[in-house]
Amino acid sequence: MDEHAHGCTCFIIPSKMLRQLADEATSASERHSLLDQVELSAHLRGQRSVAPLVMGLVAATGEKRRTVYDAQHKTALPGKLVRGEDSKPSSDKAVNQAYDGAGATYDFYREVLKRNSVDGKGLRLDSTVHYQTNFNNAFWNGQQMVYGDGDGKLFLGFTGAIDVIAHELTHGVTQYAVPGGLVYADQSGALNESISDVFGSIVKQWTLKQNVEQADWLIGAGIMAPAVGKALRSMADPGNKELTWSGDDQPKNMAGYVQGGDVHTNSGIPNHAFYAAAIALKGNAWDKAGPIWYKALSLLTSNSTFADMAKATSDSAALLYGVNSAEQHAIQAAWKVVGVA
Ligand SMILES: [Zn+2]
Ligand SMILES: [Zn+2]
Repeated sequence: MDEHAHGCTCFIIPSKMLRQLADEATSASERHSLLDQVELSAHLRGQRSVAPLVMGLVAATGEKRRTVYDAQHKTALPGKLVRGEDSKPSSDKAVNQAYDGAGATYDFYREVLKRNSVDGKGLRLDSTVHYQTNFNNAFWNGQQMVYGDGDGKLFLGFTGAIDVIAHELTHGVTQYAVPGGLVYADQSGALNESISDVFGSIVKQWTLKQNVEQADWLIGAGIMAPAVGKALRSMADPGNKELTWSGDDQPKNMAGYVQGGDVHTNSGIPNHAFYAAAIALKGNAWDKAGPIWYKALSLLTSNSTFADMAKATSDSAALLYGVNSAEQHAIQAAWKVVGVA
């Protein structure tokens, strides 16, 4: 049994959202195209047990090394190599955005959290752009990042959103940093999603040099057409459709917990706990709240619940700042805000 058996094929756009958009589609061809993409996603998720097993074969290099491939609108991965580390920028904007986004995420983990890439050992960061045709999604498949172009009508593309790139790469981090990985279902799955949102948002804030008051705390701002919405999720106010989109069903506390809910739904609860902690700790999210959340990953197990994460973050705050420190109390209070522990 591979120790990273709980990697995931994790999509930024939940199938639920694509199905709702299919229901609201103005033409049969648009509806069929969206439902085809839901089917393709399900098929790719079904392959997830394969990807992590071959992971050890991907060369670790011990330094920042990125490669970008072009799928040329087909589905074979990784596709044609179009840019490597230190090679000249491409004339293709998506190639450069995927390259730069992977670089910013690498730099954040290296400089702020002292982690060398996704696996902690310098794993090469591979990205493929122009996956399929009009593909309304981006995903981490256990080994690499994959980006569709979006159909240009509902989704405008995914490589321009640094939080989306960091979200997906963080699924890779979770796969390695949590002993055994976090099972992508139920509360451990919602935690897995939330951890990706947390570091997706922090990397965006770090890139923009925004403190916790300046940050928008949105996930996926800019990837969709204004008619669809403004963002996928809000960490500041989960479920606030005015800030996000019409199908946002995220609860912000345990009172709204959805039994058997999608991992992208219940993730609103730990997302809001992180937001509350970061606001209480003030300054930049990457100064204290981020490192506390990151250190907690190593204290989790494959089936950890929200309560386990509350304890892990409290313990990691104690390890970093001392037992009964103001930081530890802020973390405990943040979980109380969302009704956990
Ligand atoms: Zn394309
Ligand atoms: Zn995700």
